[in-house]
Amino acid sequence: MPRELPVSRHGSLAAAPQPAELATLDAHAHLDPRAPFAQLEACGAVLAMTLSLAEAEAVAQASAGRPANVMTAPGCHPRKAKAQADFDVERLRGLVGACPVVGEVGLDSGSRVPTADQLRTFRAVLGVVAEMPRLVSIHSFRSSGAVLDELRRSPIRVPVLHWWTGTAAETREAVDLGCCFSVHSAVVRRSTWRTLVPPERMLIETDAGWSDPPNAIPHKVAWMEHLLGAQLGRSAAEVRALAWSNFWRIVAETGTADLWPAPFRMSAPAAVR
Ligand SMILES: [Zn+2]
Repeated sequence: MPRELPVSRHGSLAAAPQPAELATLDAHAHLDPRAPFAQLEACGAVLAMTLSLAEAEAVAQASAGRPANVMTAPGCHPRKAKAQADFDVERLRGLVGACPVVGEVGLDSGSRVPTADQLRTFRAVLGVVAEMPRLVSIHSFRSSGAVLDELRRSPIRVPVLHWWTGTAAETREAVDLGCCFSVHSAVVRRSTWRTLVPPERMLIETDAGWSDPPNAIPHKVAWMEHLLGAQLGRSAAEVRALAWSNFWRIVAETGTADLWPAPFRMSAPAAVR
């Protein structure tokens, strides 16, 4: 089966590393900032989301010697009242400058944070990433339509929908809007996902929490690779290569290749490494 090659930042096709050389890639997890570095080193390549700007700042301040296979993103979770109350767009802008990924941000109709406050924060985040394109991991629980409304109103380069539960019509619209999807096992079993989302828009996530051992992440990602492989008619190794290929396309589309450290670049097409 032909495998799609990533596009380099120069726009040309470039050879990708072989699947056997690739680490696991988790596009959405939450890691306890106090976790020992040895545990973080064993978790593969991870996009670590934060729930508040304060959490992101704490990680940034304690980053000396922190393993570079974990990329911590500044976020402001729609369910976290204090994070929403403390949100400040200039603080976010300062954190985003050197960071190629933003999250977890978004909307949640089950949150006790008033909708108007969630919208104010989410719109401010979309404004920042419209100026500085980034991979943005977006929470849309019970708010799929509202999130799509905002993305239509304020388009950004590459929205990545996390834990997507939209209807078939919403999923079609999200695909049309250029969204990618980071999925874990509860999502990938849904027929909407299987039938409407092109494989080229797929990333894998664990949504691992603080109490989960970081070194379990590669096993959870591998399980997802098997599940997705069964659905796509591809081997688990091909799914891993696909996820990395999709990731590097997002990097190219956001112009952030220079912001990713060595453990990520090892899985990049040759032109980027
Ligand atoms: Zn999350």
